Amino acid sequence: MASMGAAKTMHTVLSKGCLIRNSLPAAYQLSRRRYADEASRPGVAQVDNMMEIGTRPIFSEEHDMFRQSVRRFFQEEVIPHHAQWEKDGNVSKEVWEKAGAMGILGVNTPEKFGGVGGDVLSAAITWEEQSYANCSGPGFALHSDIIMPYITHYGTPEQIEKFVPRMTAGTCIGAIAMTEPGAGSDLQGIRTVAKKDGDDYILNGSKVFITNGYMSDLVIVVAITNTEAKSKAHGISLFLVEEGMPGFKKGKKLHKIGMKAQDTAELFFEDVRLPKSALLGGENKGFYLLMNELPQERLLIAAMAMASCEWMFEETRNYVLERKAFGKTISNLQTIQHKLAEIKTETAVGRAFVDQCLDIHSQRGLDSTMASMAKYWCSDLQNSVATRCVQMHGGWGFMWEYPIARAFVDARVQPIYGGSNEIMKELIARTITSKS
Ligand SMILES: Cc1cc2nc3c(=O)[nH]c(=O)nc-3n(C[C@H](O)[C@H](O)[C@H](O)COP(=O)(O)OP(=O)(O)OC[C@H]3O[C@@H](n4cnc5c(N)ncnc54)[C@H](O)[C@@H]3O)c2cc1C
Repeated sequence: MASMGAAKTMHTVLSKGCLIRNSLPAAYQLSRRRYADEASRPGVAQVDNMMEIGTRPIFSEEHDMFRQSVRRFFQEEVIPHHAQWEKDGNVSKEVWEKAGAMGILGVNTPEKFGGVGGDVLSAAITWEEQSYANCSGPGFALHSDIIMPYITHYGTPEQIEKFVPRMTAGTCIGAIAMTEPGAGSDLQGIRTVAKKDGDDYILNGSKVFITNGYMSDLVIVVAITNTEAKSKAHGISLFLVEEGMPGFKKGKKLHKIGMKAQDTAELFFEDVRLPKSALLGGENKGFYLLMNELPQERLLIAAMAMASCEWMFEETRNYVLERKAFGKTISNLQTIQHKLAEIKTETAVGRAFVDQCLDIHSQRGLDSTMASMAKYWCSDLQNSVATRCVQMHGGWGFMWEYPIARAFVDARVQPIYGGSNEIMKELIARTITSKS
């Protein structure tokens, strides 16, 4: 009951924060930050600890209060269990329900739909705090800020009522299944088909690499509904497939090199009969809905990448201040000092861009190109920072019990999923060369 009380307090904090922000014109919000808040809210380049609460002009004191609660949640409810979850290959159902009770799922989902009703910056706080905990296990961000928006943006009132409150409570875990063994980057190469049968659809096919797939209660499945369409993009639809539906089977948890506590699974659909009410957002509209939602997914990856850079920097700084070689701590070596100077500078530069993206996104202005820039550049930086931080840890950086090792392997997938970084560059390039 104590946690429900805390959730209510945060709810109020978030709602108030939202009301204040939304009642001001966008231009005023920006100028207010520039000329008043900036002096009192330094950027990460200006503070000693890059994860310090009370920094960054895009946030307010209400956000700081929320961040404190989220940070405590990850410290108390996630970090102590993560090693066990890595062995299990998934987190517990209990941590989902605790996160729901604490009000940190569906943070940016409107209250009228059964969400928490916070702004997008509050949602970003939950993404960042997970990276600051260096615990990739819980697939909260995907659930709250990729899956839930599909339902609130495109769902019918019945679909919203059926799923959203339970997703906010952490009792219904969401996943999205686009990728297939033969189709990842090229979504138009999918083969999963939903064939019309009266008012129903019969779903057949399989998906792979699905985050939260093993624990999922609800999966948004991408399937072909019109095999005759002039291009596959015109014949793709989204379906809400529920755990327990006859013919829906989950395969084994995939054995990954990183993100070991996050369940990633194969899913199989054999003659799954779906009622019309399982169709999400209209027949043959799926491809366009996916395109609409991608900027937030890419921004989320970028934001988590930057928070991970900040965490790795602080972790490594602490390590080199303790580690001795040749009679002194290695922090006395100029090579180490320069590496840290470079990492702090690069991280602060990336942070400035991502905060600009978050600010623009919170005013609904983020476009696909800018989100793609953030996704590719920040996830590449994350890997470069991870490599350098492991190097500064020496052999201990290669040992699993040192958290930097986990940050290093977890970073590797960031340039691959959510649209690979090569695809991001294609998308950015298109907007440059299409004008010539
Ligand atoms: C841990 C993990 C979690 C995931 N979670 C999900 C999930 O929840 N849901 C989901 O649907 N999917 C998920 N994925 C799948 C992920 O989105 C795909 O792996 C990714 O889109 C790449 O597709 P692919 O693996 O088929 O690689 P491919 O498409 O085969 O690409 C192989 C290589 O070729 C490059 N390439 C391909 N096409 C082009 C091109 N046109 N131009 C330049 N280079 C190109 C790629 O960049 C890549 O380097 C996940 C993957 C992983 C590893």
